[in-house]
Amino acid sequence: MAIILDGRQVAAALRAELLAEASAFASERGRKPSLAAVEVSGDAASQSYVRAIRRACDSTGFDFRNEQLPGDVDQVSLEEAIRALNSDSEVDGIILQLPLPGHLDAPAAIEQIDPHKDVDGAHPANLGRLAQGLPTLVPNTPAGGMELLRRYGIPIAGQRATVVGRSNVVGKPMALLLLQEHATVTICHSRTPDLAAVIRESDIVAVAAGRAGLVTGAMIKPGATVVDFGINVANDGMMRGDVDFGGASAVAGAITPVPGGTGPVTNMMLLRNTLRAARRLRRDV
Ligand code: NDP
Repeated sequence: MAIILDGRQVAAALRAELLAEASAFASERGRKPSLAAVEVSGDAASQSYVRAIRRACDSTGFDFRNEQLPGDVDQVSLEEAIRALNSDSEVDGIILQLPLPGHLDAPAAIEQIDPHKDVDGAHPANLGRLAQGLPTLVPNTPAGGMELLRRYGIPIAGQRATVVGRSNVVGKPMALLLLQEHATVTICHSRTPDLAAVIRESDIVAVAAGRAGLVTGAMIKPGATVVDFGINVANDGMMRGDVDFGGASAVAGAITPVPGGTGPVTNMMLLRNTLRAARRLRRDV
């Protein structure tokens, strides 16, 4: 039976560390580190995510501001709202809640975020820095996956790693982070002809496809480490990952559950990025 990579436990440890760091920051600077979310009304999942960010900020001594814009806001006003936060010296980090309504251009809006405040690591300048192995603000979800591997002492250097999914928010940055830690990395996607054959050769498998149960136990090499980023809500309201946990946990050496794996760590990474952004701004001033 696999070791469970317990995201709730890791998130609790991170919360305690962040609380101490935020309090040290507040006594140095006379204010709390602060995060602003830009939310365009209309997406229920975004609303619940913003509530979760607010709770995470409250429990760790961060200020949180929600810039809520109406569902019919135009591109110009959205970008103005982002630029106003860029020039607000009391705001350290900015996160733009996605998805945006169809009439808005998300990549253009993301490009308006000051890269020094881009705590979601979404700006092309930050992803470019990550690709070049330069210090940067790393996207939170893959950063959380790496934190789980690190805290459980999973070896990465020299290991064969497969990432399923190539989105800019999860798959691609996860592959870059594994590469940075000297894994031999393969990226799979919807056009990969034989997913099972690739996964079967992998010591580490990270899955971010958004397809419930895509990766089964039969695909996994005995003893491999499995990181499941998938969040799929079934008809019965239950949350399921992209990995068939029952089958996979019987074969894997270590595995993240869903829920309770990568999810809880993601918000802690957002706060860690906010602190990093706050400190970098201070150095630049
Ligand atoms: P996207 O839909 O942007 O990307 C999905 C990726 O999976 C694409 O690259 C797609 O390939 C690939 N894919 C889809 N179907 C298959 C398949 N059958 N075989 C192989 N590859 C496939 O999703 P995200 O990256 O935004 O999110 C992925 C998952 O992670 C979702 O379940 C999401 O809810 C979850 N998530 C979890 C977070 C967390 O905190 N744990 C945070 C953010 C997301 P192609 O490019 O060819 O289309």
